[in-house]
Amino acid sequence: MSKTRRDFLKIAGISALGLGCSALPAAASEEGLAAAPAADAPAADTMNPHALTATRWGMAIFTRKIKGPEHFKQIISACHSYHNVPKIPKHKNEIKWIWEDSFEHTFTEKESHYLAEDVKMMDFLLLCNHCDNPPCVRVCPTKATFKRDWDGIVMMDMHRCIGCRFCMAACPYGSRSFNFGDPRPYIKELNPDYPTRMRGVVEKCDFCVERLAQGMMPACVEASEGALVFGDLDDPNSDVRKALRENFSIRRKTSLGTQPSVYYII
Ligand code: SF4
Ligand code: SF4
Ligand code: SF4
Repeated sequence: MSKTRRDFLKIAGISALGLGCSALPAAASEEGLAAAPAADAPAADTMNPHALTATRWGMAIFTRKIKGPEHFKQIISACHSYHNVPKIPKHKNEIKWIWEDSFEHTFTEKESHYLAEDVKMMDFLLLCNHCDNPPCVRVCPTKATFKRDWDGIVMMDMHRCIGCRFCMAACPYGSRSFNFGDPRPYIKELNPDYPTRMRGVVEKCDFCVERLAQGMMPACVEASEGALVFGDLDDPNSDVRKALRENFSIRRKTSLGTQPSVYYII
């Protein structure tokens, strides 16, 4: 049996964090409209004392540490099982929060005749980039997509989403999926601690905001065995900054000015 939205907030400790309903993806059919997104950071004394915080969350992906198809699968399925992402066989209707694709599709601006063969043949993990300057937020007419000022996470509020799909057209990374039908019959094993979605809403990676609020790292990072590093880009002493300081990294489609917060160490 799936949890109600209120149960979920209680378990996640997120209501205490002061994020309110707007900060969470939710079983949109369960309880009416969500509150308006908060513009300011939650007060420290209202937060779960174990919550992980940052002023700018970001991720570095050590692409060569991902050992092959099984490792990709392990990382992807950690995210998708945790977030009740349905496995829909029809490609057109597929829902994906994190997925795998070729160099050619990942780095469309980096094409070169003389690129190292092994890089050309590699696959990469793709997810929402939680852009500093996200076009998906600009085009959303209902503010169902919004960016949290205090930590940079680009959120989705399923209650507010009217399914217009403007955000999908605006996202240059294909990071969003639309529920053409009821996703619930396609969830193999339900995680009762995370809400399910309904037909007619868009969804995407939320940087595991609900896990951070409970003091846990993102599910994909935990499952990656060190290949994914997550942390505060504003903190020069964070693991993610250390990884970026010590390695050459690239980001996707930088010429568009979106400023992705996901970095690839090649
Ligand atoms: S990757 Fe796409 S969905 Fe994610 S913040 Fe950037 S524009 Fe929005
Ligand atoms: S589909 Fe939903 S989130 Fe996307 S732009 Fe429309 S209302 Fe906003
Ligand atoms: S950060 Fe969380 S929501 Fe995003 S891809 Fe990783 S596990 Fe999925």
